[in-house]
Amino acid sequence: MKTLGLLGGMSWESSAIYYRLLNEVVRERLGGLHSAKLLLWSFDFAEIAERQHAGDWEGAGVLLVAAARKLETGGAQGLVICTNTMHKLADQMQAAVSIPLIHIADATARAVVDAGVRRPALLATRFTMEQDFYKGRLADKYGLEPVVPDQAGRDMVHRVIYDELCQGVISEPSKTAYVAEIGRMRRDEKIDSVIMGCTEITMLIGQQDFDVPVFDTTRIHAEAAIDFALS
Ligand code: GLU
Repeated sequence: MKTLGLLGGMSWESSAIYYRLLNEVVRERLGGLHSAKLLLWSFDFAEIAERQHAGDWEGAGVLLVAAARKLETGGAQGLVICTNTMHKLADQMQAAVSIPLIHIADATARAVVDAGVRRPALLATRFTMEQDFYKGRLADKYGLEPVVPDQAGRDMVHRVIYDELCQGVISEPSKTAYVAEIGRMRRDEKIDSVIMGCTEITMLIGQQDFDVPVFDTTRIHAEAAIDFALS
């Protein structure tokens, strides 16, 4: 089994979910006392979020690249960025290390394609919903047609991620708002599925809340990482 290097703490709420999932998937596949071989670099998320919201992606990149190199030096054989948003810097990160990066959007896109749907609603941070690094990859590499909420919906989804989920707050009104936004997108935008494109959203909603396929990027990414570790 290969050792995975996790870039986490973005936020630690979802890193904790990754840690459990990675170990559970190894247990499912190998049984007994087997568990995942992991190195975790966990950021102080305030330092990252500050740079994101200031548009200082270069500054965030300096921090992430330094951490990725430490993971590689420490023995990591594959790199896992435990957030969709910071995949904005994926190419830069991949260029900075010699170990492969397991890309969350590629793993997610493959799951969407395998499910036979192609017009997913993308719920994520404003950065992931509004910039092209994620949507563009889904469209250009996999022929998908991701649709994002309208301006009010994007503001709401983004606010809930940073002000609630990343701070460990699970709120019923926010869940209702997410479900209502997907209902609207089904009617008005003809979406046929949902990508939970932020690694904390799994704390709030899941497949049980919808009658279209739901793609949980945290679980999909963890499974792809273990596929790699066991290959
Ligand atoms: N974990 C989130 C994501 O998957 C948001 C936090 C971040 O900006 O990294 O995008």
